[in-house]
Amino acid sequence: MLVYHLPGTFETREAHLDLLWEAGATGLEERAGLIRAYFDTRAELDDDIADGEWRDEVEQDWQAQFKATLRPVLAGRVTIVPPWLRHEVGAGQTALVIEPGMAFGTGHHATTRMAVEALSALDLGGRRVLDVGTGSGVLAIAAALLGAEHATGLDIDPLTIPIATENAEINGVPPGRVAFAEGSLGLGDDTDEVYDVLVANLYAELHDLLAGEYAAALRPGGPLILTGILTGKLALVRAALDREGFGDVTVREDGEWVLVTATA
Ligand code: SAM
Repeated sequence: MLVYHLPGTFETREAHLDLLWEAGATGLEERAGLIRAYFDTRAELDDDIADGEWRDEVEQDWQAQFKATLRPVLAGRVTIVPPWLRHEVGAGQTALVIEPGMAFGTGHHATTRMAVEALSALDLGGRRVLDVGTGSGVLAIAAALLGAEHATGLDIDPLTIPIATENAEINGVPPGRVAFAEGSLGLGDDTDEVYDVLVANLYAELHDLLAGEYAAALRPGGPLILTGILTGKLALVRAALDREGFGDVTVREDGEWVLVTATA
């Protein structure tokens, strides 16, 4: 890929941009104080733009490079992998296949991993699980694979719903065991449905706002798993859980991230 590096920005070299196009540039890009002009072949350039430098750059396949860096993520009894690493899941581990894509939740973030670990530590057999802020569907799918009778994933971002649904299909979770819907708690259109387990990877301020909804959506004694909490915001979540009458609060930290469990 032939690129001509011209010092300056679109603003400072505005008068010279036409000269690049006239010389045959197929595209212009501004990056880090340089204008990058793409050419198919080396061109004769006007003196006004002769202060640049021709570079033959190796084309980078960022997508392929990113994919090559992904490793399986161990989270309790579950190993989260992209489809092409399914064969690397160890014996006795439950494979959770997530196609890395547009939605948050490949398992590589500490919060996702801690939440799957926390689900994995529960006996989910016959339980109904609610996952608030489902993203890729990873936590709801983990719950279903760990034996939950049914897992519901809610997300305010409608783009996540087809992604999560496809991830459930990839994992062979039948539609009767998992459901994804656009929505949240506390939007006024809630059903009165009560769940046995509630997991939410959101952020501290939202947990504070939703703590009352969590209490209403969980059966008494039901486990609550909250993450997406920065260590500096833990006090806010603890206070919200106290306020709403949750007990048995435990805290786990991983770097700057915290996972909190409690019971309703
Ligand atoms: N559950 C996945 C995981 O653990 O990796 C994704 C978590 S991601 C950090 C948070 C998700 O919550 C995003 O998909 C976002 O769209 C969604 N979200 C943000 N605010 C929300 C709300 N009030 N109710 C429901 N979902 C929300």
